[in-house]
Amino acid sequence: MQDQKLRGRQVDVVVVGAGFGGMYMTHLLVQKGLSVQAFERGDDVGGTWYWNRYPGCRCDVESMEYSYKFSDELQQEWEWSERYSPQPEILAYANHVADRFDLRRHFSFQSSVTSAKYNEADKLWVVETDRGDQVNARYLIMATGCLSAANIPDFQGLDVFSGPTYHTGAWPKEGVDFAGQKVAVIGTGSSGIQSIPFIAEQAKHLTVFQRTPNFSVPARNKPLDRGVAASIKADYAQFRAAAYQQPAAFGAHFPRREDSVLDVPPEERDARFEEYWGHGGFMFLSAFGDIGASPETNKFAGDFVRKKIREIVKDPDIAEILCPDSIIGCKRLVADSGYFETFNRANVDLVDVSSSPIERFTATGLEAKGQAFELDAVVFATGFDAMTGALLRIDIQGREGLSLKDKWSAGPRTYLGLATAGFPNLFMMTGPGSPSVLANMVTGIEQHAEYIAEAISWADERDISSFEAALDAENKWVEVVNMRSEATLYPQCNSWYLGANVPGKPRVFMPFIGFPDYVAMADEIAAKGYEGFSKA
Ligand code: NAP
Repeated sequence: MQDQKLRGRQVDVVVVGAGFGGMYMTHLLVQKGLSVQAFERGDDVGGTWYWNRYPGCRCDVESMEYSYKFSDELQQEWEWSERYSPQPEILAYANHVADRFDLRRHFSFQSSVTSAKYNEADKLWVVETDRGDQVNARYLIMATGCLSAANIPDFQGLDVFSGPTYHTGAWPKEGVDFAGQKVAVIGTGSSGIQSIPFIAEQAKHLTVFQRTPNFSVPARNKPLDRGVAASIKADYAQFRAAAYQQPAAFGAHFPRREDSVLDVPPEERDARFEEYWGHGGFMFLSAFGDIGASPETNKFAGDFVRKKIREIVKDPDIAEILCPDSIIGCKRLVADSGYFETFNRANVDLVDVSSSPIERFTATGLEAKGQAFELDAVVFATGFDAMTGALLRIDIQGREGLSLKDKWSAGPRTYLGLATAGFPNLFMMTGPGSPSVLANMVTGIEQHAEYIAEAISWADERDISSFEAALDAENKWVEVVNMRSEATLYPQCNSWYLGANVPGKPRVFMPFIGFPDYVAMADEIAAKGYEGFSKA
């Protein structure tokens, strides 16, 4: 952390965030000779992997894919140890990247950007932080992450609870020791499902409060086979290129089947599901081509997982509570390590709060379903104000004082998920309207960083000082994003992709579905002189 306040400094670009997005963006801009001031609220790099230190946290995209590809030296020298990387290893990788490319000198850490206002007369963004910094920049790039604004529901009496509370997305750096404690985990999304087996092992007693059961498949994590890693590294470019052509920019090494459940006889159907279940992870949803689009096929996939849950969980009543009756893959699928098995432990209870919410917190615990639960500590695995939260918590004002919050009051509207009309020279990395959370995040980040850096160079070469999404192009883009989601089952459940987890948030499907199509469309726009952007 630097001590001096930055007042009136002028740079070409302010970058906000030191996650994978902010780091690579900063690297590219500096390489292009631009001056950059970057800000980060944490005290070091890592973004998501800096904040999410909860026990069991790991990536559910495989290690050889969840990494930067921009530097062959980097991808050759780094050794991942497991099929799916644990959080400490990904954070170590982020630190290695920061060291290797000397990135920290561009960042002010422990500096939260509080406001960013566009000064139309000077064509400058005026960016302020909670430390009292004020920096002016020609461009503002928000690399603030899709899942970085923690969501803690407004539980009655939370302030009177005398024990410690933790959010999975803001986990203490020093770790937490639950030994001998009565612990509650609220929430059974990816973070809850990953952490529950670990907390159960440590705590004296664990009570899991589940509002909606979630589909989860075994990750089948294991040490990374050195031979496999070496063969990928022998032609990493080809491996990356194949992943780039996949709908979510990963998973080219295992077959993505195109046929429908309805095309195959029942015995083959179950064998297929079994094969994908055995492989582990998200590829389960690729066992048939229409799991995400056909309710009938989807039900077969869901039935298969429900059968597995009933086989794993010994108490049939608990198994029923854990069985989702929703569309598999509609809420984000989870890849777990021993989640359902955890409910066979004597020290774990499951409380179904689907029909009657948690009533209140008390000094010694919480009350739900008319029952008091004595607790020493509570873990909120209650997710995030996804995709828009981190942007809207900052006072961002564009032309004529238009605030982003007002502009997006009925839901986010962007062009390419990169820019929004009324906010010149503002870019969002992996913003709403881009593949973002429905693609390998690192790949999406690299594509956006390179696209933004090229757009700025292109504008600078032409003395363009104002580069802004045009309203009609934005409107058409929003329609495209909506149409693509409507062709799937995604809009049919209450997921955070739709903002449904945050009370009062407009229900809008935010990510763009289909990474390769997105890249093709974005590239065509660039080739046509950034069609759909107004330039002045
Ligand atoms: P989440 O998927 O939004 O899950 C939040 C959970 O909290 C849900 O079960 C939700 O229930 C519950 N909840 C929220 N408010 C509640 C309330 N008032 N009372 C009771 N329960 C409540 O959040 P997350 O688990 O942090 O995951 C968010 C995303 O982060 C994931 O989908 C994934 O994209 C990413 N992530 C990735 C990894 C990885 O392996 N790479 C790991 C963790 C997270 P409802 O379902 O009823 O709303």
